[in-house]
Amino acid sequence: RPQPITVLGLGAMGAALVRSWLSAGHPVTVWNRTPARADPLADAGATVASTAAEAVAASPLVIACLLDDASVDETLTTTDLAGRDLVNITTSTPAEARARATWAEKRGARYLDGGIMAVPPMIGVEGSGAYVFYSGDRHLFEERREALTVPAGATFVGEDAGFAALHDVALLSAMNGMFAGVAHAFALVRREDIRPSEFAPLLSGWLVAMSQSAGKVAEQLESDDYTKGVVSNLAMQVAGSATLLRTAEEQGVSAELIAPYLALMERRLAEGHPDEDTTGVVELLIRR
Ligand code: NDP
Repeated sequence: RPQPITVLGLGAMGAALVRSWLSAGHPVTVWNRTPARADPLADAGATVASTAAEAVAASPLVIACLLDDASVDETLTTTDLAGRDLVNITTSTPAEARARATWAEKRGARYLDGGIMAVPPMIGVEGSGAYVFYSGDRHLFEERREALTVPAGATFVGEDAGFAALHDVALLSAMNGMFAGVAHAFALVRREDIRPSEFAPLLSGWLVAMSQSAGKVAEQLESDDYTKGVVSNLAMQVAGSATLLRTAEEQGVSAELIAPYLALMERRLAEGHPDEDTTGVVELLIRR
């Protein structure tokens, strides 16, 4: 029998989660700071609680999908968490997630943190690729897995409550780098007689092919050998990067998005690693 679930936070993401659990037959109790946002969900079958405390008392499984850690704090301080399973899928930093886990456990709750790898339209859609990173209480995860996997897939990444946030933010950070590259590429071709819609599939295809490089970086990091399987060595890549900068100059495009990465490669080369891959940049980034 589908278990009752409470959802705190009915923003774009919270509302999408509620709809998918309702569709799967779960009794859902909802609460939102601005009450009007609950109206469409009440029409869809959710029970609306008038306070967060009332919502938390309604179900053993409580999902928090709020703006940030501060809003989680504000919402939960007035609630009794004893005996609850708190699943907090609000985006936070790893340290915030760890502190929230300790905070919740002190209040008698089991705690699971989550990082959502999806946008709201992907939630509850079979085959959309949506999933959530989870970390923290493994037993909670196992026991609630069936309900948790209704809106999106679930990937458990460890008992350290901060790991879901860390994985989430690592992937989002890589995505930002990709978006920066995409912006630079479009800027380069923008003033020419090249249609963005014809250029886009070439760009996507190239990025998909190059994304395989993550596997090689992993292999080199794990073997502590950054020359392993090198195809394009650092000396060659640094020489090539001068061409990237000159082309930006020629096209009247600022190199501010790509310059920092190229500068790091140059620094690693200057430290005497011509035969390596670009993996040595990882070391330069880690502050000692
Ligand atoms: P929205 O901005 O749509 O909603 C924010 C929610 O937080 C609202 O319910 C809002 O209530 C509530 N809120 C904000 N501040 C407070 C507070 N001080 N006290 C109580 N409630 C508060 O955000 P989303 O639903 O899109 O996102 C929710 C979480 O999901 C975020 O952590 C986000 O990073 C994450 N996420 C979102 C994705 C997306 O594409 N949307 C993708 C992946 C993760 P009110 O209605 O009263 O303002």
